[in-house]
Amino acid sequence: MATPTSATSTPITVAHGDGIGPEIMGATLHILKEAGARLEIETIEVGEKVYLSGNTSGILPSAWESLRRTKVFLKAPITTPQGGGYKSLNVTTRKMLGLYANIRPCVSYYPFVRTKHPVMDVVIVRENEEDLYAGIEYQTSTDEMQALKVITRPGTEKIVRYGFEYARQYNRKKVTCFTKDNILKMTDGLFHKIFDEISPEYPEIEKEHWIVDIGAAKLADTPEAFDVIVMPNLYGDVLSDVAAQIAGSVGLAGSSNIGDQCAMFEAIHGSAPRRAGQNMANPSGLLQGAILMLVHIGQIDIAERVQNAWLRTMEDGIHTYDIFTEGKSKQKVGTKEFAEAVAARLGQKPETLKAVHYSAKTSVKRPIAARPSPKKELVGVDVYIEWPTRIATTLAEKIKAADGDGLSLEMIANRGVKVWPDGSPETFCTDAFRCRFMGTGVTPKQVIALQQRIADLALEIAMTENLRNYDGKAGFTLAQGQ
Ligand code: NAD
Repeated sequence: MATPTSATSTPITVAHGDGIGPEIMGATLHILKEAGARLEIETIEVGEKVYLSGNTSGILPSAWESLRRTKVFLKAPITTPQGGGYKSLNVTTRKMLGLYANIRPCVSYYPFVRTKHPVMDVVIVRENEEDLYAGIEYQTSTDEMQALKVITRPGTEKIVRYGFEYARQYNRKKVTCFTKDNILKMTDGLFHKIFDEISPEYPEIEKEHWIVDIGAAKLADTPEAFDVIVMPNLYGDVLSDVAAQIAGSVGLAGSSNIGDQCAMFEAIHGSAPRRAGQNMANPSGLLQGAILMLVHIGQIDIAERVQNAWLRTMEDGIHTYDIFTEGKSKQKVGTKEFAEAVAARLGQKPETLKAVHYSAKTSVKRPIAARPSPKKELVGVDVYIEWPTRIATTLAEKIKAADGDGLSLEMIANRGVKVWPDGSPETFCTDAFRCRFMGTGVTPKQVIALQQRIADLALEIAMTENLRNYDGKAGFTLAQGQ
């Protein structure tokens, strides 16, 4: 997190992006310069031009060199060309630089910006590398596709601790965790468990857990009930857009992507190509990203100056077209004029909205605690079989012939529901069946020999998952109805 305040310049890498990117970056850098930000800027080219030159990642090796040197990236939005196998630069950058935490403050600026939630001030802390975004997908039969939801202990410890450290640094009072652990007992269950393990280290901060569906409903209805919310990747992706929009506009929100070594700061919106080159776009989202960057690199004084001047500009009713309200706003301005208005207010504070005061606490980096290795025991294997007739009993009759050598068929499931033995006649089956063989003191060789016997029966194995106990506890779930 933040390093101590320094009077020396900090090298940063800047990308001006596509569409409205160059205009809002120009406006943002103008304000930072006028505010006295101590920055040494290296400019890189990423995005559309790079993609269209034949580079499907949208970023050149020389740009990676700059990012690895400066470790701080201020990025304007880019356009990802449709089709053509172009990879999202955001996802690539997050994964390559290990940016595990995505932070999105969602604040309403009532009565100056229209919103249904006048006192909203929520920060979404989203895990950025795991969950369904691991992108591990398989076709397991003619009918079925699968995606793996990956939640790890180190990944979750990092994001939960980051959420609490963020709350401490910004004097936040409460951290809430959203999961769906009533259904996803192992993956979301681990996330919730680690939240409960780490939270006592922050006794001054209130903590709570919500099931994500009712939590999301409450967030959309009563956002003032929340402060910092930490959640796995997919829920965070969806709910941070919802939170930004209900605060007033996605155009006002910035975000940071934080890793152990590098960090990236940006607006949450895209490159809005239709607005490009017209001096219309609101640079506030990118400016909010830049303010998060200033706090991150320890230039607390400049961050406060810029944010307070920006709040004052909002209050003075000097608004770009997207937030301009007839009768309430005072002056409709373009991108450049808005930046000049903010720069002219540097040194001033808002009168109605609360002025900001950031603290320069340095976070303590705690190593992830070493844990004793669990005792692992192989107890069986799930074998996925494509069975085009879709009738579980006939599959059971056939595959039972592979029983033996300490392993026997215990159940067959379809889409997570037990369909043999004693399946419910109403359960609909696809062609992808999971056959669970169990035994005691099973060896890997026995599992391989079982697969050989199944193959000898001319059954098509799509994939297998070994079943293990960890310290005597099952490292797999039971099927519904098992
Ligand atoms: P978008 O966010 O670019 O624009 C949606 C609409 O929101 C615009 O038409 C405009 O009316 C409004 N808007 C957005 N930002 C604004 C601003 N600063 N000021 C005023 N109005 C603003 O979303 P999109 O149209 O779905 O995507 C356009 C391109 O941006 C796509 O190529 C997409 O891949 C890319 N994108 C990039 C990023 C990023 O680089 N981080 C994020 C999202 C989308």
